Amino acid sequence: MTDDKPIKLNCPTCQKAITWSEAYPFRPFCSERCKMIDLGEWATEGHRIPGEDAQAQNDEFE
Ligand SMILES: [Zn+2]
Repeated sequence: MTDDKPIKLNCPTCQKAITWSEAYPFRPFCSERCKMIDLGEWATEGHRIPGEDAQAQNDEFE
């Protein structure tokens, strides 16, 4: 069975239209950046809290 019709889909992160092909090695994401954003969404959020905490402590210290 030959299927030369490219499958079209949208990047889950930025909704950019891409095709399921070698042109997009990070599919279903359009790019590595979008893949990292999707995977890191919760991690970034978790990262922000200790970061703010450290800064607040630093402020008190001065
Ligand atoms: Zn994208």
